[in-house]
Amino acid sequence: MQRVRPGLKKKTRKMASHIVGYPRMGPKRELKFALESFWDGKSSADDLQKVATDLRRAIWKQMADAGIKYIPSNTFSYYDQVLDTTAMLGAVPERYNYTGGEIGFDTYFSMARGNASVPAMEMTKWFDTNYHFIVPELGPHTKFSYSSHKAVSEYKEAKALGIETAPVLIGPVTYLLLSKPARGVEKSFSPLSLLNSILPVYKEVIAELKEAGASWIQFDEPTLVKDLESYQIEAFTKAYSELESSLSGLDVLIETYFADVPAETYKTITALKSVSGFGFDLIRGTKTVDLIKTVGFPAGKYLFAGVVDGRNIWANDLASSLTTLAALEAIVGKDKLVVSTSCSLMHTAVDLVNETKLDNEIKSWLAFAAQKVVEVNALAKALAGHKDEAFFSANAAAQSSRKSSPRVTNQEVQKAAAALKGSDHRRATNVSARLDAQQKKLNLPILPTTTIGSFPQTMDLRRVRREYKAKKISEEEYVKAITEEISKVVKLQEEFDIDVLVHGEPERNDMVEYFGEQLSGFAFTVNGWVQSYGSRCVKPPIIYGDVSRPTAMTVFWSKLAQSMTARPMKGMLTGPVTILNWSFVRNDQPRFETCYQIALAIKKEVEDLEAAGIQVIQIDEAALREGLPLRKSEEAFYLDWAVHSFRITNCGVQDTTQIHTHMCYSNFNDIIHSIIDMDADVITIENSRSDEKLLSVFREGVKYGAGIGPGVYDIHSPRIPTTEEIADRINKMLAVLETNILWVNPDCGLKTRKYAEVKPALTNMVAAAKLLRTQL
Ligand code: GLN
Ligand code: ZN
Repeated sequence: MQRVRPGLKKKTRKMASHIVGYPRMGPKRELKFALESFWDGKSSADDLQKVATDLRRAIWKQMADAGIKYIPSNTFSYYDQVLDTTAMLGAVPERYNYTGGEIGFDTYFSMARGNASVPAMEMTKWFDTNYHFIVPELGPHTKFSYSSHKAVSEYKEAKALGIETAPVLIGPVTYLLLSKPARGVEKSFSPLSLLNSILPVYKEVIAELKEAGASWIQFDEPTLVKDLESYQIEAFTKAYSELESSLSGLDVLIETYFADVPAETYKTITALKSVSGFGFDLIRGTKTVDLIKTVGFPAGKYLFAGVVDGRNIWANDLASSLTTLAALEAIVGKDKLVVSTSCSLMHTAVDLVNETKLDNEIKSWLAFAAQKVVEVNALAKALAGHKDEAFFSANAAAQSSRKSSPRVTNQEVQKAAAALKGSDHRRATNVSARLDAQQKKLNLPILPTTTIGSFPQTMDLRRVRREYKAKKISEEEYVKAITEEISKVVKLQEEFDIDVLVHGEPERNDMVEYFGEQLSGFAFTVNGWVQSYGSRCVKPPIIYGDVSRPTAMTVFWSKLAQSMTARPMKGMLTGPVTILNWSFVRNDQPRFETCYQIALAIKKEVEDLEAAGIQVIQIDEAALREGLPLRKSEEAFYLDWAVHSFRITNCGVQDTTQIHTHMCYSNFNDIIHSIIDMDADVITIENSRSDEKLLSVFREGVKYGAGIGPGVYDIHSPRIPTTEEIADRINKMLAVLETNILWVNPDCGLKTRKYAEVKPALTNMVAAAKLLRTQL
């Protein structure tokens, strides 16, 4: 901070810069470790609070030092911001026996994680991100009362540090649209009908924030980017008109993110009187600038322009952002444009400073949350006529080095991927003929049994991999240890009498990282964690260049495993769409191009496995559905290239090679036609928590000619299913599906389970299949 000479009352003018939200975990996942230690009873609530306070202080200070004008508060959370809102509203489901008063850690973490006697609330994906929020459970009798003063205390906490912040609340309409009917409440109940019941609590919060001195409040209303019904759009008008008198004297920002706001919605919300500013995602919302140009922007209101990407790790192209900002400034006026991030920075990694293993060239292309804060401010300063020339020219140099780097471009790969567009890539023979050809070779019983891939990942296994990576044990020792593990897993499956075996994936830390590490064009971070839910984080690989496969990745292990048994051994690969969706993806070419490149690399692996004598190859597409765009109008295009990418991987195999795929979610009814279009020979799919939903598609007459294995038991729970209940489940499936296409398998991989659970569960699963075979 610059010292101002006394007597010269002039304050340094803060440029119009804003951050939507910030990661809470800390640069080295400090919050994760503090939470887990508290949950384990190894540290006290005070210890946890101390870590949290320090993290918040560091974040606010960092933004203040960078010169950010609109600094968010209440974007910290001990678990989840939607759950924080549930606590604020006192909307605790009955089963937690909450009796009123300020909600403390006990009730809060019981809702998040369950406790000895009550299970947790449901968790689901936050829009199209990999972040999961806790779904509010509401009913006509839910009582609302102001029960968590977190927003106000965080505002005061920052103020006490001398930092003025804009408190962030999840907007009332988004909160209700993300809620579901509580247990025992009619499924048709609409939580939106509770709008008038929750607004009084919002009013109390607003009044307290005003009283504490807040001048801006940010309401996050990301549902505004979805395809809304007119009554839902009207709810926004109703809510913000109802809040108008409470909000008077305050500036209000409505923040949207993750896509464009549809034109009709845009018109409605920009007409809201009680609102002073609107935030838009100009990265994913590619049509927003045009919308603002053609529809216009209300006079006298602020436009928060999200030009710095909160969902990725790339350094901003500052020159290009400045052009966009200048065009917007011409529309909204000089003092009404605020430079912002596209969404909360919680969806990107925290701080590049801690990346010790990335080389300087790649590092120069990147910006994590801490660096994005600086970019936002640099852009705001430049707009105000104080361009930091050195910063901008370093950025321009990095941008051009990225464009011209031979590490990014591989002409051969570019050409091969370009040649794929417009073509179809299908196996020559139809699926039923293929299944016949495969059956002649594989000779499987009806209701064949299999598993999804991984077997329990023991401490020993993790240690072996770690020591090998750290070069503490030799390659020879490593191969020996993994070979022993595979042999153990193969023998076990033979004992259980499973028909199609797996090698157990003991050599893999993670189903994407394992492949990324062996493909060209990928980089890995040491601390590039992103919160997935609660204390859990993921560390997505960075795809920075054209993807190719220098050498075979899985053939050695699959061949070895096959040599241990006379039964078919499944080759096990992660599919291109899943690799793409679970990585930070390059932003200098469309996603589908990157996906096609990965598909070509996987295709080579598939063909090498086939040549090595592997007759069944599973290509997991666990994350295919996750990539589905938020707007209906964009779904078809995504599904088309995603499914095409999958087919590219295996269109070249012989009829007798059986291609499996696996998907990790149950709610696939809406994309069933795309799943059929993948044209796999067999699909295994997570199902056991929603049997009826899955089967109803087939009951309604959808024809599925390929093999299908809806999971017969839930691997997320330690519970061991009995033979009878599995048989019962299979019988239900047989009522809907043809006997000759049904497979019997668990829901997903077994890596998180213990052998003590896996052994009896798989024994019972095979027993159930055998029992039914005798009855058919
Ligand atoms: N083959 C992987 C495994 O079994 C699939 C995991 C997944 O679907 N998420 O672990
Ligand atoms: Zn799965």
